[in-house]
Amino acid sequence: MGAGPRRGAGVTGGLVSAHADDAERDAEASVRPRRLAEFVGQPRVREQLELLLHGALRRGAPPDHILLSGSPGLGKTTLSMIVAAELGAGLRITSGPAIERSGDLAAVLTSLGTGDVLFIDEIHRMAKPAEELLYSAMEDFRVDVVVGKGPGATAIPLDVEPFTLVGATTRAGLLTGPMRDRFGFVAHLEFYEPAELERVLARSARILGVEITPDGAVEIAGRSRGTPRIANRLLRRVRDFAEIRGEGVVDRAAARAALRVYDVDELGLDRLDRAVLGALVESFGGGPVGLSTLAVAVGEQPDTVEEVCEPFLVRAGLLARTPRGRVATAAGWRHLGRTPPPTLFGAPPPSADRQPDLFGDAPQPPSA
Ligand code: ADP
Repeated sequence: MGAGPRRGAGVTGGLVSAHADDAERDAEASVRPRRLAEFVGQPRVREQLELLLHGALRRGAPPDHILLSGSPGLGKTTLSMIVAAELGAGLRITSGPAIERSGDLAAVLTSLGTGDVLFIDEIHRMAKPAEELLYSAMEDFRVDVVVGKGPGATAIPLDVEPFTLVGATTRAGLLTGPMRDRFGFVAHLEFYEPAELERVLARSARILGVEITPDGAVEIAGRSRGTPRIANRLLRRVRDFAEIRGEGVVDRAAARAALRVYDVDELGLDRLDRAVLGALVESFGGGPVGLSTLAVAVGEQPDTVEEVCEPFLVRAGLLARTPRGRVATAAGWRHLGRTPPPTLFGAPPPSADRQPDLFGDAPQPPSA
């Protein structure tokens, strides 16, 4: 949903992207948790929200406005729907980029019913005049709509029913101070642990009527980049594979074979991620190398490399951004099956080069 470059339309390109297009949003709808109790992980946020919502229900008044920040695909939209469901309230969904003029926002605000929840995704991308209109709506439940221009312009005050704003942002740092201050409840969603993603997968599989084994869930969860959206997407692809090439069961073997077909390796890197890391190690001796040079080497735009590939490579500890350029970490070298140079911080003592096993489907040593 966020701005910025996306991978090409090819299936392989977008399989581990945290963004969703409209078709994907439809596919996601069926597996979306509807109540707080079904929402997996994020224990702190869940507990805090539960207190906030139950407190509001007891008092019979809308809760404080809620700001949710976190990377795409971690559950912000889902939580906004849950807030409305738990409050038994109506829900309106819009997004910052969709609100171009303050009039657009005024129309939405004045059409809200008492106690409704208004979800604004990518709230940091809202136009400035609209943002200012939102301040008074959030604080005083009223907006001044300016009619006309120049000296003849008049402000018409309009009442807004008490409502709860749920704002979501992938870039909390871009939110203005006055905006942030008007949220009484601010929560940051973290990436999910593999065990939590296994629970997400088990739940989604149950809803989709797919049989998944525990080791199948482990295999998919490990490649999902800590993101439920990616876990659910990989599950759908592995299910297709299992139905067409196997018995329809999503087990470890099916997951490994399917994700090899789709070029998603053991850590959840796709072809472009590996190309970037590979160029860094093979062509530039591990770096440091400038972003644009690296981008040319993989035939991509610099901002695609920077915004699509690098965040996860950095988070996975495979690549580092330094003032002198991008460098491959010791783990980055090892992920490609290469021995890191001894000068590299964190590199182990030199040993024989291993063969890369990026997809984890090399024969396993017999277990003891
Ligand atoms: P965001 O708005 O942060 O981009 P969404 O709320 O749209 O993310 O979540 C993306 C998908 O991931 C949804 O289909 C939802 O089913 C799933 N999902 C997200 N968080 C959870 C969770 N905690 N438990 C189960 N499924 C989740």
